[in-house]
Amino acid sequence: LPPIDGDFYDLSLKLTPHQREIQLKVRQFMEKEIKPIANEFWNRAEFPHHIIPKMAALNICGMAYKGYGCPDETFLMEGIMAMELARVDVSISTFFGVHSGLAMGSIYLCGSEAQKEEWLPKMQRMELIGAFGLTEPNVGSAVAGGMETTCYKEGDEWVINGQKKWIGNATFSDVTIIWAREKGTNAVKGFLVRKGNPGYKAEKMQDKMALRTVQNALITLTDCRVPESDRLQKCDSFKDTAKVLKMTRAAVAWQAVGCARGAYESALKYTKKREQFGRPIARFQLIQNHLVEMVANLTAMQTMCFRLSEMQDQGIMTDEHASLAKVFCSMRTRDVVSRAREVMGGNGILLEYDVARFVADAEAIYSYEGTKEINSLIVGRAITGYSAFVS
Ligand code: FAD
Repeated sequence: LPPIDGDFYDLSLKLTPHQREIQLKVRQFMEKEIKPIANEFWNRAEFPHHIIPKMAALNICGMAYKGYGCPDETFLMEGIMAMELARVDVSISTFFGVHSGLAMGSIYLCGSEAQKEEWLPKMQRMELIGAFGLTEPNVGSAVAGGMETTCYKEGDEWVINGQKKWIGNATFSDVTIIWAREKGTNAVKGFLVRKGNPGYKAEKMQDKMALRTVQNALITLTDCRVPESDRLQKCDSFKDTAKVLKMTRAAVAWQAVGCARGAYESALKYTKKREQFGRPIARFQLIQNHLVEMVANLTAMQTMCFRLSEMQDQGIMTDEHASLAKVFCSMRTRDVVSRAREVMGGNGILLEYDVARFVADAEAIYSYEGTKEINSLIVGRAITGYSAFVS
């Protein structure tokens, strides 16, 4: 691999040659295909659909899943991928995380054999794209107990009513996983809602100030009818939904690492080139202090995520393990990107220099897949034995 500025402890040396080859392949794709267009699509708030076949050729979807055409690699590699994608463009990393992690993961963990056979191979090849609809306009953090979207069974069909907000990829997805509370029993069910269902309407959310390339939608479900065969057969309660979120949360922590790393590497390069008072600003002590704080945070985040993924691969990662990394990395990333922005002076707020985009996108990582507070409460409950979700 070429020199890696943001991998100060050479963690990639812990990867096998095969794993490093995958990492390099993805890095080259991101540098060559995404970097030149990232700011333009982010600025226009459009998604670059033309990159999907090129991304599919990398064969990285469903990285750690077994069977169904998936690569059968490790969760560590899934994390490394999330980092590599986010290092260049957090939006592309999020698009990928929603499709490969949340949507494919829901089918992988909660689908029947027939559902897995039908969807996963085509989604792995990115011939079909997925979305994951959990959050609602009135319920975000409290969605486990407060979900307002309902479903009921009528003959061999389910009827779903409600709204979902913030749903990434949902303006163009071929399948959207919709979670709904069953009227009468309050059990949470998951549904494969296919593109073109007349009861499904997805409106693009406008004027987002972060992850602008990601197409987030407000979904309205009006008597949306789904056959029993498209209900996720292995989901009986929110505990099953939570299994999906537990599996993907580690990759979100890695995504934070990628965001911080992209900002740090851009800033480091800039400080070596930019001259003030007749010398590169990298020679100034106060600038070096920022750079050291950045690389220290980045190194702590990476080593934490590396161990977290090892635990995930060993089957010993708990919710609180994943939540701690998500809390720590999303907080530290905010610090890293703001220092990166600072050492770049005025150019730090120009899209052209990339760092401004990382600053904005770090805010989305901070809030999605469980806000900082919610993930802190998960860890707090584990270490004290007291649940403080409701005071
Ligand atoms: P709220 O739940 O209203 O929280 C507001 C504030 O109150 C937060 O600071 C929160 O931490 C705090 N708070 C809430 N409860 C407590 C408590 N008990 N104690 C202390 N503080 C508390 N969702 C999907 O289903 N699919 C997606 O694809 C998706 N993509 C997203 C993409 C982006 C860019 C964003 C921003 C969000 C996305 N989400 C998605 C939704 C995301 O998961 C929610 O935004 C998140 O769970 C928080 O919910 P909320 O925004 O409704 O905030």
